[in-house]
Amino acid sequence: LDFLIEQDAAVAELIGKELQRQQDHLEMIASENFTSPAVMAAQGSVLTNKYAEGLPNKRYYGGCEFVDEIEQIAIDRIKQLFGAAHANVQPHSGAQANFAVFLALLQPGDTIMGMDLSHGGHLTHGSPVNVSGKWFNVVQYGVSQETETLDYDAIMALAKEHKPKIIICGYSAYPRTIHFDKFRAIADEVGAYLMADIAHIAGLVATGLHPNPIPHCDVVTTTTHKTLRGPRGGLIMTRDAELGKKFDKCVFPGSQGGPLEHVIAGKAVAFGEALRPEFKTYSAQVIANAQAMAQQFIERGFKIVSGGTDNHLILVDLRSIGMTGKIADALVSQVNITANKNTVPFDPESPFVTSGIRLGAAAMTTRGMGTVEFAEIANIIADRLLNPEDSGVAAECLKRVETLCSRFPLYPHLREQQPA
Ligand code: PLP
Repeated sequence: LDFLIEQDAAVAELIGKELQRQQDHLEMIASENFTSPAVMAAQGSVLTNKYAEGLPNKRYYGGCEFVDEIEQIAIDRIKQLFGAAHANVQPHSGAQANFAVFLALLQPGDTIMGMDLSHGGHLTHGSPVNVSGKWFNVVQYGVSQETETLDYDAIMALAKEHKPKIIICGYSAYPRTIHFDKFRAIADEVGAYLMADIAHIAGLVATGLHPNPIPHCDVVTTTTHKTLRGPRGGLIMTRDAELGKKFDKCVFPGSQGGPLEHVIAGKAVAFGEALRPEFKTYSAQVIANAQAMAQQFIERGFKIVSGGTDNHLILVDLRSIGMTGKIADALVSQVNITANKNTVPFDPESPFVTSGIRLGAAAMTTRGMGTVEFAEIANIIADRLLNPEDSGVAAECLKRVETLCSRFPLYPHLREQQPA
């Protein structure tokens, strides 16, 4: 950062402020995490200078001998982590990975089936504002109103009625286990491709703490920066190497240009970290922490969507305290807690207001927090939300956040490098 301070004080100062913000806030956004300094070093390296269109050892540019090896390490490690036959680590993001899959398997006008955004699906699974919703005929499934979990019989019935060409499972705000084998049976019944987008749960899958979609799905996409704790990015994996090659072509040249080899190096480092036993310990702690947080909210009188969690996230249904997600989001952010408002299934409020708040455990578990601290986080949020007008309670909550952040430092080696 020293170079940057000399070269461009304005940008350096803002990066310093962002570092400070990450250090002194509780990061509860379920899709975020803190990568290791090694991942950041790889990503901030000379690899950003290199063009490498093509695949390892099959490039359209010279000078690729070292990036070839780096990209191959990333591919080999991710295949090992998930037991995949083929992997493409070039998608710039999760959305890009999903788009490449659609380009490979679908024609405009085909029917796709994914989960409704308001029930926990992602924009790229058929939302009208995304290309997936604009170019395809979209059929959306949701969760059961009664259990707030996937109803596989209802999904089967919907699939039989609409005969989609592809069924997408994997979500952005679903706290329960996904049974990929049941989705396989549905896809087989109607002759559909089955795609799993495990962007959120990839780290839990990689460590065996959530069922693995690879044996059941034709294609699996993910982001690399959530529970997998790598740099921002996406990737595509298959159990069938031949089908995998089709996706390679739809990433480049189908929908992207040159791969970001500096990000791919960061992915390689992160996948190496994820192969170590410590990462399984970390991932198990993430789930234990999310469950401790859910339990504490329930004890404080809040309703949790589906009654709890099997993974890294929870959805608090704020109708139980007569508050909207928008207000709750603003209240917790005043005490240095970062989260996001989120629709709950069958939400009567608009997506801009919502009735819920989504909280994830991945980031603060990386800082070293355990179940005791996550129960305290739930208590701080509960105290804040149950006393919205009380400035004394707000000040007290802020102090408790400060105490937690100082007990579990983030990137302490970066502290002294901040600009004045
Ligand atoms: N798929 C799912 C299930 C997601 O939750 C997300 C991001 O939140 C994405 C895809 C998109 O990833 P990105 O933001 O990297 O494009």
